[in-house]
Amino acid sequence: MGPGGACWRGGGVPRGWRRWLSSSAPAPRVAVVGSGPAGFYTAQHILKHHGGVRVDIYEKLPVPFGLVRFGVAPDHPEVKSYGAEDNRVLGIPGENLSGVYSARAFVGWYNGLPENRDLKPDLSCETALILGHGNVALDIARILLSPLQLLRKTDITDGSLAALACSKVKRVWLVGRRGPLQVAFTIKELREMINLPGARPVLNPADFTGLENAVKDAPRPRKRLTELMIKTALEKPGEKTVEAQAAAPREWELKFQRSPQEVLPTADGRRARGVRMALTRLEGSGDSAKAIPTGDVEELECGLVLSSIGYRSLPLDPAVPFDTQRGVIPNSSGRVEGVPGLYCSGWVKRGPTGVIITTMNDSFDTAQSVLEDLQVGVLDVSTSREGFGAVESILRSRGVRPVSFSDWEKIDAAEVARGKAAGKPREKIVDPQEMLRLIGH
Ligand code: NAP
Repeated sequence: MGPGGACWRGGGVPRGWRRWLSSSAPAPRVAVVGSGPAGFYTAQHILKHHGGVRVDIYEKLPVPFGLVRFGVAPDHPEVKSYGAEDNRVLGIPGENLSGVYSARAFVGWYNGLPENRDLKPDLSCETALILGHGNVALDIARILLSPLQLLRKTDITDGSLAALACSKVKRVWLVGRRGPLQVAFTIKELREMINLPGARPVLNPADFTGLENAVKDAPRPRKRLTELMIKTALEKPGEKTVEAQAAAPREWELKFQRSPQEVLPTADGRRARGVRMALTRLEGSGDSAKAIPTGDVEELECGLVLSSIGYRSLPLDPAVPFDTQRGVIPNSSGRVEGVPGLYCSGWVKRGPTGVIITTMNDSFDTAQSVLEDLQVGVLDVSTSREGFGAVESILRSRGVRPVSFSDWEKIDAAEVARGKAAGKPREKIVDPQEMLRLIGH
């Protein structure tokens, strides 16, 4: 299932409601598919609250931790989490032109995700346009605009650091289809952008005038977030900040009420040269306000377009139900509908929203369902099952050598040693073949 979720089968086909007796019955075996945060949190909760259970965690890559390793920006080691296998598509002409990248691919590139290691984004233009007003959009803007000396201390890959060192990007537009009251990013991430050394925030005062009133009864996080935008847009900063901003070589700007209509090609039709935006008005208010095109359009010239409009999960297998509309596995408290013994957790359970704490609580909820089903006998755990032993035999018969956790520890040690030389927490190995060579496979 990959980094966006975890999916596992505990104990096999249910056979009525029988109480599991830990003293006489064999240890139940749980398989967790996907070693991202959702998988690990669920495994942790099951192991903590059930003395006899054995959990095997499966991962398709030779390295664990899913989007903890490959997801969130390298300068955010404390929040490293989020994921789903695929990005939402814009569904507009020009989306496939060169110079247009999905946030998922771009984030994968700077985080050393093997499948994105050869992305080689073209950073030769001065203006980048990011579509979307979520935290991923802010992550990307920050990476594009951060002084190199800050990034050097992180576990960003050497290849992306070298590319960013040659980057000509000095202006980033973050463009949302709705207004300031509907942004999806959070205050901590916004504050970090506002305080980013060498980059000036550009917020159009007209977008924020009179907003104070509109937000006075809003929930506290929305109120505080809006107040920070209002302050940045309308209040004159202190002298030091004014000086620093005047000297800043780079800038970023929040643009509102613009919905992407078409990525415009260069004259030779090969590259992106900008995006045509439909200007919008808002119908309704608050979170549920809808962006309705006014009929007016605007062309924004830029050489780099990053589509950061959210992620989506992919179906796992025809045997596992999947709601393609919502991009989730239909479930109740993690119990997959119609498939007893199968559970889901993470973004594939609830959709691509929330921060690490949300995923943790949600994984504990799924784990609780597994524990309850074990306790009341919904799951048949009366016979001994081999767990990984069975999978290992199949792999062996196919000539496949799985990577074990101690193999990963060798890769980990090598990465940390390489990073040490460069003053970084680690230098990620981005080529899976190199990882396998390192552990003698
Ligand atoms: P997100 O929070 O869902 O934001 C997606 C943005 O894209 C929204 O502004 C949305 O606008 C816009 N959008 C969606 N479809 C669009 C379309 N067709 N055209 C134009 N705009 C469109 O997604 P995300 O930024 O990928 O983040 C995913 C989750 O990870 C979030 O819960 C986020 O908080 C979390 N995350 C957390 C951190 C952290 O804790 N530091 C870091 C990264 C990510 P509308 O509102 O109008 O739909």
